Amino acid sequence: MLDGKNALVTGASRGIGRTIALELASKGANVAINYAGNEEKAKEVAREVEGLGGKAVTIRADVADESEVKEMIKQVTKEFGSLDILINNAGITRDNLLMRMKEDEFDQVINTNLKGVFVCTKAVTRQMMKQKAGKIVNVASVVGVSGNPGQANYAAAKAGVIGFTKTTAKELASRNILVNAVAPGFITTDMTDSLTEDQKQEMLAMIPLNRLGTPESVANVVRFLVSEEADYITGQTIHIDGGMVM
Ligand code: NAD
Repeated sequence: MLDGKNALVTGASRGIGRTIALELASKGANVAINYAGNEEKAKEVAREVEGLGGKAVTIRADVADESEVKEMIKQVTKEFGSLDILINNAGITRDNLLMRMKEDEFDQVINTNLKGVFVCTKAVTRQMMKQKAGKIVNVASVVGVSGNPGQANYAAAKAGVIGFTKTTAKELASRNILVNAVAPGFITTDMTDSLTEDQKQEMLAMIPLNRLGTPESVANVVRFLVSEEADYITGQTIHIDGGMVM
């Protein structure tokens, strides 16, 4: 389904990014695994991609640093020959209530989660324009749609990603570059594993399907969006949240 396609997934050494990388590889894509610090984990994902039959490269770059990102795109394109798919997945949280939130906590989240999407999209778009085709999927969050106490920085960044998705979808449509977003709700990760039973029940009470999502729930929709089956979909944000935000 994605045979011979070349993909770059940011923040792919663990969590949702890792699962997306493996899902794309399982459908035939070659995958570049971007990471911020954990080289060993990124190499492990690369070995898993190769185990699925794809080519893999690991590349360290801070997604918010334009010169590092430009170099990353150059390297991936040189290694794979083209770049067909970008998944802007890297993200962080620095939660705090508004009156306690430090300027630095606000800036860090906006830089990684919003500016990072801008920097990577811009760098990759140059290459996709030359190829006259491309698919970009941004990982937003339902928090960017409905807000969440303690996450003013994160909600602002993710709402920004949704607006950025719509604008770039309109700007790049004539170049045959399709841009969409996914907005996950509560997804099981190392973080949710450490929640107490009471906290889990509180979460479940907000979800009509009464269960948490998995990284695979997100990766499956991303894989669909970058496939030919989704060739008439652009500018959309698909909620993957068990019906939490309608
Ligand atoms: P995670 O912390 O496990 O993974 C995030 C990855 O991004 C890590 O590998 C990290 O090293 C990388 N990263 C962070 N800053 C970076 C930078 N500057 N440059 C490059 N890489 C960087 O988190 P996750 O739960 O897998 O989240 C993945 C994405 O999904 C994020 O954008 C997150 O906001 C979004 N999301 C997650 C959930 C959830 O419930 N887990 C819900 C909604 C949205």
